[in-house]
Amino acid sequence: MAAPGVQLIPSPEEIMQILKRTGAFREGHFVYPNGKHTAHYFQMPLAFRYYDTARVLAVALSRKFRVDRDIASQLPKVSVISPSSGGIPVAFGVRDALSAEQIYWAEQEGGKRMFRQYVNQGDIAPCIIVDDIIRSGHAIEETVELVRGLGAPIIGCGAIVHFTSAPNHIDDVPIKSLVEFDEKFYNSAEECLDCKAGAPEEHVRF
Ligand SMILES: [Zn+2]
Repeated sequence: MAAPGVQLIPSPEEIMQILKRTGAFREGHFVYPNGKHTAHYFQMPLAFRYYDTARVLAVALSRKFRVDRDIASQLPKVSVISPSSGGIPVAFGVRDALSAEQIYWAEQEGGKRMFRQYVNQGDIAPCIIVDDIIRSGHAIEETVELVRGLGAPIIGCGAIVHFTSAPNHIDDVPIKSLVEFDEKFYNSAEECLDCKAGAPEEHVRF
């Protein structure tokens, strides 16, 4: 039994069970648009379409930020930012749990990641960047550049799932996650064990 007042964060195994149950984590033989093959695929919005599940995941991630003294001391004057549409429900859930003041997100416009026009005209608060999943870290890195362009300090960063091959820090800010996933990618069909075994391929969009 936990001591009263201690807020438990579900274990990585419990998080993975939620992701499996909702179809957000899939096992098979997948081919990414860049030609890489893997035996696993995360489609995180499938977990976030169920409100209760979305809440459990976002609240759990928020607790990782809440225990960080630098972050806790700056609340509520904090912005929670998503690099893309997939992170928007995470951002809303984390904001709610932390009572942070602002949420905004980047979108792809003409192949470029951007914030909405005039975002820079509001109060610029210290930022926590959250996403549903960090695979390569490119989306986070592009968002870091955008946030720096606004002149906002980054005080936190995290995702529900973080691939161990992605960066684990932004400058000196550690990337927090509920699951560290060690994904194995095969660069081509020739290297892929599932291809060798003749397993049917599923092509995934991103
Ligand atoms: Zn393959």
